[in-house]
Amino acid sequence: MNVNRLMTDLERKHPGESEYLQAVREVLESIEELYNEHPEFEKAKIIERMVEPDRIITFRVTWVDDKGEIQTNLGYRVQFNSAIGPYKGGIRFHAAVNTSMLKFLGFEQTFKNALTTLPMGGAKGGSDFSPKGKSDAEIMRFCQAFMLELWNNIGPDTDVPAGDVGVGGREIGYMYGMYKKLAREYNTGVLTGKGLTWGGSLIRPEATGFGALYFVEHMLGEAGKSIAGKSVAISGFGNVAWGAAQKATELGAKVIAISGPDGVIYNPNGMTAEKIDYMLELRASNRDIVAPFAERFPDAEFIPGKKAWSVKCDIALPCAFQNELTGEDAAELLANGTWCVAEVSNMGCTPEAIETFIKAGILFAPGKAVNAGGVATSGLEMTQNAQHLSWSAEEVDAKLHYIMSQIHQACVKYGKQADGYINYVKGANIAGFMKVAQAMLEQGVI
Ligand code: GLU
Repeated sequence: MNVNRLMTDLERKHPGESEYLQAVREVLESIEELYNEHPEFEKAKIIERMVEPDRIITFRVTWVDDKGEIQTNLGYRVQFNSAIGPYKGGIRFHAAVNTSMLKFLGFEQTFKNALTTLPMGGAKGGSDFSPKGKSDAEIMRFCQAFMLELWNNIGPDTDVPAGDVGVGGREIGYMYGMYKKLAREYNTGVLTGKGLTWGGSLIRPEATGFGALYFVEHMLGEAGKSIAGKSVAISGFGNVAWGAAQKATELGAKVIAISGPDGVIYNPNGMTAEKIDYMLELRASNRDIVAPFAERFPDAEFIPGKKAWSVKCDIALPCAFQNELTGEDAAELLANGTWCVAEVSNMGCTPEAIETFIKAGILFAPGKAVNAGGVATSGLEMTQNAQHLSWSAEEVDAKLHYIMSQIHQACVKYGKQADGYINYVKGANIAGFMKVAQAMLEQGVI
């Protein structure tokens, strides 16, 4: 394999798909050396096959808003890779959603799902529908219209969507309701992230954030450090940031920042149960602003226009969107003494930021390892649905804990360098790749 040649070829085939090309390049650079030691991969053209999605379904979603006006959005499902199990991955509703974004997310999901130890292939879907400013009734009508097109392409043994940015329990509920009506099929395993009374799993809402903090604990443990007493800056205030803030606080860390598109909340006294609950209210308001947090809690300060990375912290956790932490932000964090960065959002850091952290020798781990607890717990939800059982919170949490420790171990196994530094990016990419590649080899040319 020659990374530059492969990338030139992909750039020609998929011009302008910058996020997708960025995600592919990162993986190729990590696996190049190992790949070239395995002639069977080259012979089976594994990488040429793995970088292209199995198929992309695109559709029009037309719905009526509260004013009676007709709206049209675009809908997608990218079924990326099914080598190790049925397609699995979230649905994103955001104004910027396009093919490039969902291809990057589906590609990442394939490796992430491989890391979870569970048999799940990779997929992603979504729409350029923006939930911002929409009423509950509009969200419901949109979700129903979206499912009217998607339902025929998914199923508990073929493709299992879940939430992502802009899609939480409420949206999953509306989509599941419509799926049942259309498919005349009542298998709860068709979607994950469901409500607790209709097949959802305890701990699933918290799982991405909880899993991320378990991973961080392992990273710190490996480096002889602990999380108690450390200051943590979190970007975002949605479901992922909420779970991360909750677990970080529980483990004795102080969450001193959360943020939104409007600015950062500097929260020097850390989180309380009330503050953490309020994050959920903020998200549910659909206003996409974080400023009201400081009105509600006067010991916190709202700084407009600033990012979470401007706050001095030990540990930085991007929990919002891809490329939200740039090379410049990385330099600012390092200058302020940050020594651990774990991506909780998918591809939260730009390539320049990652390079800056790795060069500086600080602890850095990529989203596909750190945030895999979300989809892993989706996998546990599928298992419970298939068994028609529900497990206790303790049981799910213990399994999540174990899975995160396995992912951490896999990263260390493939990412430990001769000088002892653990390159978690390399470790996660190689571990995920090896599993998918092996499965593809064994299943022949399909
Ligand atoms: N959207 C989440 C992710 O990026 C969860 C996907 C799922 O649970 O299927 O992994």
